[in-house]
Amino acid sequence: MMNLVQLNMKRRDFLKITSAGAATGFVFSACGHKEEKLIPLLVADQEIIPGVDYWKTSACQQCSAGCGITVRLIEGKAKKIEGNPLHPLNQGRLCARGQAGLQVLYNPDRIRSPLKLNGQRGSGQYQQISWDEALKMVTEKLKELRVRNEAHTLLFLTAPLSGHTRILVERFMQAYGSPNLFIHELFSDEAVRKANLLSMGYDRFASYDLENANYLISFGAAFLETSRSVVRNSLGFAHSRQGRPGVRSKFVQVEPRFSLTAASADEFIAVRPGTEGALALALAHVIIKENLYDKDFVSNSTAGFDEWKAAVLNDYSPEKVSTITGAPQRTIERIAREFARFGPSLAIGGDAAAAHTNGLSNMLAINALNALVGSIGRKGGLFFAPSPPLSPLPKASGESDRRAGSTGTGASGSSTFPSLLQSITLSGLSKRRPINAAIIYNTNPAFSLPEPAQVREFLSQIPFIVSLASFMDETASMADLILPAHTYLEGWQDSIPEIGTGAPMITLGQPVVKPLYNTRAAQDVLFGLAKEIGGPPAESLPWATFLDMLKTSYQGLYRQKRGSVVADDFNRFWDEVVKRGGWWDSEFRQQFQFGTPSKRYEFSPLQENGRVVVMTAPKFEGEEAQFPFHLHIYQSIALGDGRGANLPWLQELPDPMTTVMWNSWVEINPGTAQKLSIREGDLVWVESTRGRIKLPALIYPGAAPDVVNIPVGQGHKEYGSYAKGRGANPIEIIAPLAEPVSGALAWAATRVKIYKSGEAARLAKFGTDIREHSQQSIRR
Ligand code: SF4
Repeated sequence: MMNLVQLNMKRRDFLKITSAGAATGFVFSACGHKEEKLIPLLVADQEIIPGVDYWKTSACQQCSAGCGITVRLIEGKAKKIEGNPLHPLNQGRLCARGQAGLQVLYNPDRIRSPLKLNGQRGSGQYQQISWDEALKMVTEKLKELRVRNEAHTLLFLTAPLSGHTRILVERFMQAYGSPNLFIHELFSDEAVRKANLLSMGYDRFASYDLENANYLISFGAAFLETSRSVVRNSLGFAHSRQGRPGVRSKFVQVEPRFSLTAASADEFIAVRPGTEGALALALAHVIIKENLYDKDFVSNSTAGFDEWKAAVLNDYSPEKVSTITGAPQRTIERIAREFARFGPSLAIGGDAAAAHTNGLSNMLAINALNALVGSIGRKGGLFFAPSPPLSPLPKASGESDRRAGSTGTGASGSSTFPSLLQSITLSGLSKRRPINAAIIYNTNPAFSLPEPAQVREFLSQIPFIVSLASFMDETASMADLILPAHTYLEGWQDSIPEIGTGAPMITLGQPVVKPLYNTRAAQDVLFGLAKEIGGPPAESLPWATFLDMLKTSYQGLYRQKRGSVVADDFNRFWDEVVKRGGWWDSEFRQQFQFGTPSKRYEFSPLQENGRVVVMTAPKFEGEEAQFPFHLHIYQSIALGDGRGANLPWLQELPDPMTTVMWNSWVEINPGTAQKLSIREGDLVWVESTRGRIKLPALIYPGAAPDVVNIPVGQGHKEYGSYAKGRGANPIEIIAPLAEPVSGALAWAATRVKIYKSGEAARLAKFGTDIREHSQQSIRR
């Protein structure tokens, strides 16, 4: 078999060849091209030479960005993960979380076989059972619901999914007959998507042509550390700063906390929480008033400008906004002029700026800046990633039951996190529409939703919960049955990057090692269930395995005869796509089109009583007199929203701004700390109307005097030996407020008070006295 070849190649040679391939664009042909032997698709055991390394491509699944990876294998064991140099998204680079994927695979806390609850919910008492027994339990339950005409009472709860796993889950639920597919992620940035939908017609994150931008303002977006596609963003940003001889972009960061992204900026503007959009409107005010906007773009490609302009000129003068935001008036005026004159300019919004009760109007104001200077669909501006031309799959049969009480939205009944939050916190979902069974996959709402007691109560009311999980986290430990899932290095998966380069692309992940334990691919478990249930689920998923489904869909790419792989027959095409870790077409150019009904940018999509609403004031929970500080939580660069906390490499990674490891902390402004007689290491209570948590104080000059900052990621009560019982979880004291239009959780809208507990602890910090901390004391 011509492609099943041993790769006797050093990494240096591999990189040399693959870099050349990446630079030139590879077209597979039958003439024995050198790259043909790049990465073996399959190497039979007998062909493996002891001590010789092999590399296989796959797809990183440590976040939803969709980076391509290569995995170094020696004697069938994964030894190292690096970025796939062929992949146009990450171009051989990888972030720390991507590197740590090996510790997902080899983690000692992995669930190794199916487990059945053998005690009270939450008792942790499970007994091992066989896959046959486990699947029989699930199929009997799911069949029973359908027989009782209660298919709609099945809940499927998952993290945001990409590629064909998403298609599979949506088809499964539609064919089964339930609209209750919920997507949950704490930092979902739902207000960003909603703003993009209302103003530009795309319910997606935008991609940024950072490489060609000359001026960049980021409002709250931690785009160089945790926000969405961090590797892609870093590459583009680096190019804009150092990749163009004689041209270096200017970067301004606006947010309440001095973050790692802010540390990379030329200028940092600290603003009061929730006022980022007001600042954007003040910039717009100056740009309009001084006639600096792109009149061609505004008149030919936008709608609703005059109404919006009148409101902005009337209500958002730099002088007035200076008092709202705390940013100096002169700074506002100067930045506005620079932004308009030194284009291509780009305004990016997200994270805390989107996570207020006025997050949607903040994001619309930031989008409007791009429209004002004509930076949408143009070089150095923003665009939306094109979809890869996959084959349409046969129509799914069955239809979701949409009887009264359904909270689902969208074609497949999928819904978003805010609906779940609201359903749980308003005690709505289980009361309005009883949930009789739940399948939970790859998400941990018992850790990452506010009001954990209500979340646990909600879960405890569900008669049957099955968890498809690799680790026993806070949510899996509430399940009646645990079906242990492969890690991403053991199974097939793919991702369609939402934030891209302009090329249609899909990242394909092959199993790079044999499964270590008695686990199965979550996708294949769903295929098995569909088959056993029969009827529409079986008809809608006619493939034997997930791999077969992928191959059917990738026929569309094969038929294009363009892009990174072109071959004479599908099998050779497929083999080469597997070897390269996906398919992309870097030559593709797409004319930008707005997706709004007017086919223009909409300046004024929010109206109230016939008048345009350009901004709403942020609301906060907690009276200022009693709770004088804003609570600013942020995603840990290492642990993300807590998913990385079970990986010791990530625990051991010093936080780039504070150098703290293995713990959580609360950042307090030095002046504030002095007033409250708080010293570094004092254990302080941080209390909101929802509860309190105790953390070591870290005196941080990058904290505003009236804001305290806490990283998210620690404070697990389950999730294995490296995560459990370490630090505190600030989500527990977040008020469950939502942005009213998008429903996004307003996780930045909580006020707190802080006070000393009388106890103290030493933080493990890199570069101080870390050697004094034995591994044992650090872990304790
Ligand atoms: S950005 Fe996300 S997908 Fe890319 S390497 Fe990091 S964790 Fe993996």
